[in-house]
Amino acid sequence: MEMGSGKIVILGAGVTGLVLAGRLAQAHGDRVVVIEQEGLLGGLAATLSRQGFFYDLGSHRLHPDNLPRADRYIRGKLKIKLLRRPRRGALSFQGRFLDYPPRFGNFFRSLPFQEASAIFASYWRRRAASPGEPANYEELMIRTVGRRLYQLFYRDFAEKLWGLPADRIALDGIKRRRTFLDPNALWRMLSGAARHFYYPQAGIGEITAKLAQDALARGAVILKSSKVTGLQRIGNRITGVSFIGPGGRPDTFAAQQVFSTIAVDDLYALVYGRGGPAGSLQWRDLRIAYFHVDQGLKDRRETFYFPSLGLKIGRVSQMNRYSPFLNPDAGKVVLTVEVPLSEQDSLWRMPDDEFLRFCLDELNKVKIIQEPFSADPVFALSLKKAYPVYALGWREKFSAMYTELNRLENLYALGRKGLFLHCNIDQCMVQALSCADFILAGGRDKTVWDKQVADFLLFSARD
Ligand SMILES: Cc1cc2nc3c(=O)[nH]c(=O)nc-3n(C[C@H](O)[C@H](O)[C@H](O)COP(=O)(O)OP(=O)(O)OC[C@H]3O[C@@H](n4cnc5c(N)ncnc54)[C@H](O)[C@@H]3O)c2cc1C
Repeated sequence: MEMGSGKIVILGAGVTGLVLAGRLAQAHGDRVVVIEQEGLLGGLAATLSRQGFFYDLGSHRLHPDNLPRADRYIRGKLKIKLLRRPRRGALSFQGRFLDYPPRFGNFFRSLPFQEASAIFASYWRRRAASPGEPANYEELMIRTVGRRLYQLFYRDFAEKLWGLPADRIALDGIKRRRTFLDPNALWRMLSGAARHFYYPQAGIGEITAKLAQDALARGAVILKSSKVTGLQRIGNRITGVSFIGPGGRPDTFAAQQVFSTIAVDDLYALVYGRGGPAGSLQWRDLRIAYFHVDQGLKDRRETFYFPSLGLKIGRVSQMNRYSPFLNPDAGKVVLTVEVPLSEQDSLWRMPDDEFLRFCLDELNKVKIIQEPFSADPVFALSLKKAYPVYALGWREKFSAMYTELNRLENLYALGRKGLFLHCNIDQCMVQALSCADFILAGGRDKTVWDKQVADFLLFSARD
């Protein structure tokens, strides 16, 4: 990389921004500056700590098939001890809990005989039920698992997670999601999914906290509570980054290189202003409610999924099953309740105390909390743009925006939100490590980087 007078500016201190900061600071020390709007580092993979309790921003775990480079980085370089935990989730279905990931016997035994027969029958008829090439998520699912299973399991949960009816959800995004919403996942899981996962003792944020320590130790500067408000441009180069620092103080850095991990549409608006393609992508937001449950739940499983549209809660996690070190008192277990939403939903605007009561009502309704167990509401928080929504036509909108931004020779968009990518932590780490390799090797030919981005866009997330 040619060195001028400006800074190497990284927008956002999530996993991607922090890995990049650590690697680039190794060569460039305090010329590397990370600007983060929140007071807490780590982005979506942060862990809040309050009065001895640790709270992740929703259920996070490391999957056994993590990309090897990321795995080596976490265990080897960051020296994080990972707990190996049994994976024993539950999927709520017609008032019962089925094992999740599903097990063949448990899955079909839990269904009434008539239901199981209807599923098999519609599975054999699936191609006739959805002839031709599938054009959307609904058609793909019917073609893959049959109409009955689709109606029972997939239709509602897809709409609940993404906030769109399944026939308005595109194929290309969905195919890249290896969860039970992915057409092949059920068969894969039934035939033997991994029944364990890995987790850092002090919460998923132990990873991002160590990444931040590493970047700081190498001389990087990390500005917290500082929101990027504009990028200046001359011709096809970014020349400066403006931000509002703590206490509302505006400031600007001259920029040599800019790496953005913020949402691609926000970045577009910062460079080119609102309007045009900015704002055309859809995202799903998330509200999270935290409870303390005396002695934990009667049901000892770690994660409960609620696909039904009749409930707002989508996933409930019993955090002592992830790590026993997340609560100072073994008798008080942190329960994390995730509610996927959009800003226009009334639940999004509901005051925190009301929202906590609402979630508690739903927990009671699904009989997760039963006498003599009780749950104390602790706090709630909201995450904007938690999930990219692959609505029909998203690819054209994303490509138009990304291509225009990518023409700027010293600007790189990457990470989950930078590439509008439903991806995992390990995949973010690999993006950042690959980007640092490219830059540290001279970073002259952006088409080389573009080829790597094309590979990243094929990543599929695991749940
Ligand atoms: C509910 C949930 C559960 C998940 N579970 C798992 C899991 O089990 N396993 C797994 O591997 N992955 C999981 N993931 C995915 C994982 O959290 C993300 O892929 C990863 O953390 C994304 O990192 P990132 O740095 O690319 O983006 P982010 O974490 O989104 O970081 C971007 C940063 O930019 C900052 N920012 C935005 N705008 C500005 C601005 N204008 N100025 C300054 N800063 C700004 C944000 O505050 C944020 O800190 C989950 C994600 C969610 C939402």
